[in-house]
Amino acid sequence: MVRSLALWTKTLSFPTRNSPSTRQSKDKINSTILSSTPTKDKTPASTPDISDSEKDIMGSTVYCIHHKEGCKWSDQLRKLKAHLQTCKYDSIPCNNKCGAQIPRILMEDHLKYTCPERIAKCEFCGLDFPGSAMEEHNGCCPLEPIYCENKCGQKLQRRYLSRHKANDCCKRLIPCRYCNNQYVADTLQTHHTKCARVPVPCPNRCELMVVPREDMETHLKEHCNLLLSCCVFKEAGCRFKGLRGPSMDRHMEESVQQHLMLMCSLVTKQQNQITTLKNALSRISLHQSGTLVWKITDYGSKFDEARGKDGVELISSPFYTSQFGYKLQASVFLNGNGAGEGTHISVYIKILPGEYDALLRWPFAHTVSFTLFDQSEKPYNIVESFVPDPTWENFQRPSKEPDSLGFGFPRFVSHDTLKKRQFVKDDTLFIRVKVDPSKIVAV
Ligand SMILES: [Zn+2]
Ligand SMILES: [Zn+2]
Ligand SMILES: [Zn+2]
Ligand SMILES: [Zn+2]
Ligand SMILES: [Zn+2]
Ligand SMILES: [Zn+2]
Ligand SMILES: [Zn+2]
Repeated sequence: MVRSLALWTKTLSFPTRNSPSTRQSKDKINSTILSSTPTKDKTPASTPDISDSEKDIMGSTVYCIHHKEGCKWSDQLRKLKAHLQTCKYDSIPCNNKCGAQIPRILMEDHLKYTCPERIAKCEFCGLDFPGSAMEEHNGCCPLEPIYCENKCGQKLQRRYLSRHKANDCCKRLIPCRYCNNQYVADTLQTHHTKCARVPVPCPNRCELMVVPREDMETHLKEHCNLLLSCCVFKEAGCRFKGLRGPSMDRHMEESVQQHLMLMCSLVTKQQNQITTLKNALSRISLHQSGTLVWKITDYGSKFDEARGKDGVELISSPFYTSQFGYKLQASVFLNGNGAGEGTHISVYIKILPGEYDALLRWPFAHTVSFTLFDQSEKPYNIVESFVPDPTWENFQRPSKEPDSLGFGFPRFVSHDTLKKRQFVKDDTLFIRVKVDPSKIVAV
């Protein structure tokens, strides 16, 4: 008995004998056992009342050793052993002999869930597995229903999953059969409504019928043979619209006359525009400095023409004496005029009706000079000038019709003098007409 009690004290992990006092009041079993242990060291025969004290000890009231785990049992120490045979907190070897010590109360769980020697039935396929194999089977049972990894919301047995993902899953990626890009299956329909490669019917219902969406614009502009197109004489005013091909060809044949008339009126209209533009251009390019340098080219042929015919007069472009001044024009008779006819070059100036005549002072009274340039290295220019005679009618304000006579020098330079120096060079001569406003007050 003593030996077995000693065994118990060991099993029970009682506190050491050196520090009993503080626990005495708390734990009845402690004091009981501590007071009895010294008897172990003595021989049983030498102590006559040993069985009495043992009886005392065995009769003392103790708690179950699993008191702290929750066992409420409390009785005489001698009944503890028997209690432990049934105490649900006491550990016993696993029924499956897996080697683990398991409290009775946990045995059912252990046998069911954690014992490596247990036999378990898979809840999905119904097959039996030893514990360790079950752990491997968990998570790969082909009959276990699981959610599709593509998050399509479908739950189906593991064995069908790969087929589902390849063929049925609405979240699988599949290529658009028109543009070949990959799309999630349930968005493909939407994609088709805007995919550039999807064939769409030609709105003209031409023989091509369908054309990829992105090519339709080009098709309609350039290729559709059912397209109404405008006659090429549209700009000239033809309103005809027709299908390309025979219908347009027929129109071209039938409308030659009409097209010609349209073109004629277009040309006339353009001609008028050109004239207007030319006038505007010459108006803005008129000299306004009071000086005209007049370049007369092709002198030889012009002189011959003047000699062969009476009254051939060369007219300069008009020029103004200032921005808002008198409008003048020079003229030259290469074979002379009046007193210089046949022997001299004659030069004249004539007053044209100008834009600002109403504001100018009349008669015209500027000094006018003519210069014939000598084009040699050391020039000897010929200059003639005059101050207008206010009584002469040529210097009065001109009427709207510019029929006034010019004023100038019939015998400006003789043909002989002309040959002496390089007044004509490269078949060209230069005459400057200069109006000096210093003697008059214009606007
Ligand atoms: Zn117990
Ligand atoms: Zn076990
Ligand atoms: Zn299974
Ligand atoms: Zn799916
Ligand atoms: Zn596409
Ligand atoms: Zn078409
Ligand atoms: Zn036409």
